Amino acid sequence: MTRPPESLLHIDWTACDGRGLCTEILPDLLGRDDWGYPQARASARAPGAGSDVPVPQSRIVARDEAVALCPRLALSLIIRP
Ligand code: SF4
Repeated sequence: MTRPPESLLHIDWTACDGRGLCTEILPDLLGRDDWGYPQARASARAPGAGSDVPVPQSRIVARDEAVALCPRLALSLIIRP
């Protein structure tokens, strides 16, 4: 049985407005730093990268919603086979 590809939600902090819409859509994966910018919760963090958030299969619909609704186009997907 093949494993599904791993998806990472990438946050471009240089484009983000820090208002936190994505953290409302994915509260289990994203928290906010002291300035309001989204970052991976410790429990969801990829090693060494708070801006790359592993997304489980069960949260793909919400992930896609967050990408589509981000007003600054600051969210993108990285798919690893
Ligand atoms: S929805 Fe987009 S602009 Fe808003 S906090 Fe999230 S990444 Fe930043």
